[in-house]
Amino acid sequence: MTRWRYAAATDIGLVRDSNQDAIHVDEGLALVADGMGGHAAGEIASLLTTKIVSEAFRDTPTVEGLSQAIQEANRAILADAKETPEHFGMGTTIVAVGITTEGDDSASPTLFNVGDSRAYQLRDGALRQLSDDHSVAEEWVRMGRLTAEEALTHPNRHQLTRALGVEDELHIDVVSIEALPGDRILLCSDGLSNELSPEALARMASAPAPLDEAVQQLVEAARAAGGRDNISVVLIEFDEVTVAAVPVKKTFRTAPPALAGAPRAGAGRHVRRRRFTWRVWAGLAFVGAVLAGGVAVVHWYAYSSYYLAPDNGMVAVYQGLPNGVLWYKPVKFLDTTYPVSQLRASDQALLTATITEPTLATALRYAAYLHDEWQLTQPVMPTTTTTSKAKG
Ligand code: MG
Repeated sequence: MTRWRYAAATDIGLVRDSNQDAIHVDEGLALVADGMGGHAAGEIASLLTTKIVSEAFRDTPTVEGLSQAIQEANRAILADAKETPEHFGMGTTIVAVGITTEGDDSASPTLFNVGDSRAYQLRDGALRQLSDDHSVAEEWVRMGRLTAEEALTHPNRHQLTRALGVEDELHIDVVSIEALPGDRILLCSDGLSNELSPEALARMASAPAPLDEAVQQLVEAARAAGGRDNISVVLIEFDEVTVAAVPVKKTFRTAPPALAGAPRAGAGRHVRRRRFTWRVWAGLAFVGAVLAGGVAVVHWYAYSSYYLAPDNGMVAVYQGLPNGVLWYKPVKFLDTTYPVSQLRASDQALLTATITEPTLATALRYAAYLHDEWQLTQPVMPTTTTTSKAKG
């Protein structure tokens, strides 16, 4: 049996013109989603996610059920973005704790995470981060390519490696939480964790005050520290908690889409004629399928990534590899709204060397991020400028 109390708040912050974060919390599920994408699309992605996941989890409160619900939210965002061009490129993070039941009906807390919203566990005033950030900088820290200190200021620190709404294939970190009664769990968007130090988070989130006061104090502190992004906080405290009989620690993933050109079954359905003819046809079909499969693989490889490069003074997104593969040359996919002149000099140099990204969404997000970084170097706000909705 697991029971918790909770308090939560979400705040627009001081700089953004909309709140693209969404939260949900009840007796069985707590979640924070941090949406991204222009024209209020980030809001749609995060709201779709909280709605789909909370409703599905109510029906199926299991690890499998919640994982499926997150995948369903991913598909819904992709489908919506396909239908509505202004929603193109929208996405969201999700960090959630669900009280999941197992076969024997015991109910224990499980953490689900995609993106860089965070989950922390608090015990006796100490703070421990439970979730891994899926950002370029943090992945590099885990690979040993960067130190934790370098990651704090790295230019790729806000660039996500995983989010809902990017690709059909989704990887979700799922971990059982081992907790004691009195432990608290803090879920938050990066608008909180970027503004406050771990020490400040620990102090305020574990203050022996009622939960809603602690939440309020966290939001106000993040605003006082700059409030540069939307701020979302969910704080839960266990009254009673069970540890999973069979703890989970794995990454759920959707199956990759089937490769086009794979040989299909059923070649021998009408075996009326001579065996010889059937075998010849089957052999030819097989060779054809292998060749088609090979071509499909090369084609896929040639166009499976995107890069940013200057074109007529604008930052443009190209599909393909900068030098092409065999006869497959890269093609210009679209112009962003960012003039090259509105990037920092160091980023302009980077741009001519081309910046490769795995998906169109990440390429667009990175272009927006570079433009945001330039904007930060500009004197205080002129009247109107193009707003961009990069993560961060
Ligand atoms: Mg954020």
